[in-house]
Amino acid sequence: MKVVYSDRYEIPLPGHIWPTTKYGLIRARLGDAAFALVEPTHASWEDLALVHTAEYLEKLRHDTLTPEDVATMELPWAAGMADGFRLMVGGTIAAAGAALADGRAAHLGGGLHHAFANHGEGFCPLNDVAVAVRVLQRDGRITRAAIVDLDVHHGNGTAMIFERDDTVFTFSMHQQLNYPFFKPAGDLDIGLENGAGDLRYNGLLGEALPRVMASNPDLIVYLAGADPYENDRLGGLRLTKAGLAERARLVLAAARAAGVPLVTVLAGGYAADVADTVDIHTGTIEAMLA
Ligand SMILES: [Zn+2]
Repeated sequence: MKVVYSDRYEIPLPGHIWPTTKYGLIRARLGDAAFALVEPTHASWEDLALVHTAEYLEKLRHDTLTPEDVATMELPWAAGMADGFRLMVGGTIAAAGAALADGRAAHLGGGLHHAFANHGEGFCPLNDVAVAVRVLQRDGRITRAAIVDLDVHHGNGTAMIFERDDTVFTFSMHQQLNYPFFKPAGDLDIGLENGAGDLRYNGLLGEALPRVMASNPDLIVYLAGADPYENDRLGGLRLTKAGLAERARLVLAAARAAGVPLVTVLAGGYAADVADTVDIHTGTIEAMLA
């Protein structure tokens, strides 16, 4: 299995809650397990334009984001930062392509599901998952895709981008009373009550996955956010590590049973102790390798 990763993902975000150290820590934890490490290349501006508007890309390209743009992004934006995120989009494109070739692949990055076509939002300047799907469609490698977004936050940008697109099934299961306030409808949205735990979560997931598979996708993109974890600082669900491991098994088993290639991207994770976030993400990748 190919695992896409770059040590350039450790984008410096001084004082920010996003631990960009997690990428390197997960890579280190995986050690010499049986996988092929792939270094990504930057997504081209042409690829990005399959999803994002020309006006917005110009701002990223020439570092002319307004203070309002930066405030909505909620990142300590610095000149040149767009290149780091373009690399991460390239990583999701590479991993999605590898999944089609090999049946499954993982990206130790990505899942920037709050980015819209015309603006960045909630730590997400570019929507890597949407771009990867559009690149594979353009290149004739897939017709249909399904997105299984299990980050604790609703995948608002992704839902909006594919709102009128019948070829991409968007499924988000998230904490209802959490960011983002405005949750555009996807194809299947499950908004959980505060404090939902393992049994409730995985029970609903088990009921939802057949509906995802019924959309007949050529590729599943799994956003394996670690932030439904009980000790996450930005989440209000109560999943344990065992529950999150079971979640990964459910998604992988459903894809395997349906014979559909699957690519995993990491998405969020803000545990008080970054080691917990690293544990959860590493467990997901190890489940894929098993
Ligand atoms: Zn999140």
